[in-house]
Amino acid sequence: MTILILIIIFLLGSIIGSFLNVVIFRLNTNLSISHGRSKCFSCNRELEPKDLVPLFSFLFFKGRCRTCKSKISYQYPLVELGTGIIFVLITYSYFFSNTIFIGNNIFNKGLVLQAFTQLSYIKYIFYIMDLALASLLMCIFVYDFRHKIIPDKLVYSGAVLMLIKIIACLFIFKATSMTIIWALLAGPLVAFPFALFWVVSGGRWMGLGDAKLALIVGWGLGLGYGYTALMYSFWIGAIAIIGLMLMREMLDAFSTHDNAFGMKIKFLHNKKLEYFRNKLPSYKLRSEIPFGPFMIVAFYMIYFLGRNLLWWI
Ligand SMILES: [Zn+2]
Repeated sequence: MTILILIIIFLLGSIIGSFLNVVIFRLNTNLSISHGRSKCFSCNRELEPKDLVPLFSFLFFKGRCRTCKSKISYQYPLVELGTGIIFVLITYSYFFSNTIFIGNNIFNKGLVLQAFTQLSYIKYIFYIMDLALASLLMCIFVYDFRHKIIPDKLVYSGAVLMLIKIIACLFIFKATSMTIIWALLAGPLVAFPFALFWVVSGGRWMGLGDAKLALIVGWGLGLGYGYTALMYSFWIGAIAIIGLMLMREMLDAFSTHDNAFGMKIKFLHNKKLEYFRNKLPSYKLRSEIPFGPFMIVAFYMIYFLGRNLLWWI
């Protein structure tokens, strides 16, 4: 039964994901989200229902448009898959495990569980809010990765959502005044280092969008966990970028490009590797690296693993 519910939630998530793809593409264009039917970007053919089945259409038509055979971006199936997975994980943590992460972890767990038994609709409201946040964060992840910008509309909606959740928690769980103060300050305090970076560097090291995203991290996880998430995001970022650079250098050894090690393995030159090498993003240390995606990954590491994660660190 559990499996069946989770499969249905996955399919639902992937449908939401295909809608998020539309949102991501139409952001900052004049097209409204509900405007007109989706079209193929190359041949302008209006897409039919069979082109729009999440994941399956991409797999079945091998990632190409049915008429003009032009390649369709991997963003479509990846966002559908990612949204499906995150929806399943959130559903699992709410309804099938006892490791639920509520608002932020400053509230007594016993009280939270008691409140959920007495007022079961609260649990559903929080669940829906967390699904909504996941959808917003998915859009921010992709948009920041592609354009190095975090759209205000998305990030402010997420921050307000988390603030409402915190305030609801404060009322439901009868918080003390100290708890209230810390819960409300968590957002601005976690955002502060980013705002400082932004001011000191004149926007060269970090965009102000990262500070706004940190508001979500602070209000969503609380002060202690929020700062832990920040620390993780720097580590994840460093590992990802160093890994990417190393991979590029290694691939360069097998291709006609130069690499830092001065290695050339000519007899292994390979067209496929060359193709793959050119697909890798080429971040230089000083160039602007989108930081939002790392923060979002760190946010969910804490959200899902929370205390358990801190155990082995
Ligand atoms: Zn086409």
